[in-house]
Amino acid sequence: MSAHSSLHLAASPIEAASDDAFPHVAIGRLRRMGRLSAPLPTALGGEGLCEPERVGDLRRLLTEIGRDSLPVGRLYEGHVNALALVLRYADAETREVLARDALDGHLFGVWNTEPKDNGLTLDPAGRLRGAKSFASGAGFVTRPLVTARMPDGRSLMLILRLKAGERADLSEWRVHGMRATATGTVDFSGLHVGEGAVIGAPDDYFRQPFFFAGAWRFLAVQLGGMEAVVETHRAHMRATGRSSDPHQQARFGRSLIALESCRLLVAQAADIVAAEALPPERVIAGVNLARAAVDQAGLDVLTLAQRSVGLAGFLDDHPLEAQMRDLATYLRQPAPDFALTGMAAHVLDCETPLHALWPEVRSQGCEA
Ligand SMILES: Cc1cc2nc3c(=O)[nH]c(=O)nc-3n(C[C@H](O)[C@H](O)[C@H](O)COP(=O)(O)OP(=O)(O)OC[C@H]3O[C@@H](n4cnc5c(N)ncnc54)[C@H](O)[C@@H]3O)c2cc1C
Repeated sequence: MSAHSSLHLAASPIEAASDDAFPHVAIGRLRRMGRLSAPLPTALGGEGLCEPERVGDLRRLLTEIGRDSLPVGRLYEGHVNALALVLRYADAETREVLARDALDGHLFGVWNTEPKDNGLTLDPAGRLRGAKSFASGAGFVTRPLVTARMPDGRSLMLILRLKAGERADLSEWRVHGMRATATGTVDFSGLHVGEGAVIGAPDDYFRQPFFFAGAWRFLAVQLGGMEAVVETHRAHMRATGRSSDPHQQARFGRSLIALESCRLLVAQAADIVAAEALPPERVIAGVNLARAAVDQAGLDVLTLAQRSVGLAGFLDDHPLEAQMRDLATYLRQPAPDFALTGMAAHVLDCETPLHALWPEVRSQGCEA
């Protein structure tokens, strides 16, 4: 997990030939390296990556995977998110059963988004009806954590057991980038919820600050995607002998500022979430600060790379082409306007001096 290493998760030659191929090779590699079980506590056979004091390691791993491949980063982030929810909310027995599934190599995911007119519901007899949309790893994730609405309107987290390929519809995932994530629709109508499926109490999924603050993990992955774009931008300048041009230097310098400022803000966001020491609204504002910064900076590094590399970067044999499509697509996350204005409103309304809003809360070993 050093800053210079690579997990070698870029698409295999066969998978790269069609960039909508699910990254079996990379996920298999993560499985063999023990990364699918690493989020579990050591007592359950993992490496404790979800423990607060390991937040720096988890953040660096997410960025490292995102740097190699944003689709793989998205899938791994969903896997970590599901295990983190299980560890936080499930009872001891369910935690143990699901930890064994992770150790056995099952891929987890969190499927919350749903079609407006066909959302997932759970009836009193334990039967599901409806679907989830934009579900990453559809057909490949065999332990999805889904949210299902109960008759009283509250929402319950369930871990469902699926076989590979079961119920997945990828026909509408014809998309600009992130094609390899297999983000599809999964209809669960008729499925009966088995024993041990329920995670936590109703509406636990939406408990704050964890619901909004968990965004720090996708920011860490996006940061890796930004880094890949800036690295390719640099490589192109060097390969074409254009590094000494002052216009190119100025654009590259602005790219680096965008990237490295985000690295600091994402590290700060991860640390304040892990510390659980500040009021929930302040934690959420700190994460939203990083969200708004990454959203803008991600678009900036794309524009700067496009201007510097020029048309060559749009040819499909140039690495920038797929990196740009993946980053532009993955930057689209829920309610970005609210992230910016909610954070601004919180700071405008509070009396705390700016320098004391997010005091240093770094846990041991979490230096940026
Ligand atoms: C590659 C990829 C994989 C994904 N995988 C999963 C997954 O596995 N599981 C899952 O649950 N989801 C997944 N998602 C979906 C994701 O969680 C979000 O639902 C999705 O990215 C939201 O994007 P959006 O642009 O439609 O957001 P929106 O929130 O609709 O934002 C679009 C624009 O509308 C504005 N806006 C938002 N709300 C309002 C409002 N009420 N009034 C006016 N304007 C508004 C926003 O600020 C923004 O400007 C995935 C998404 C991507 C890109």
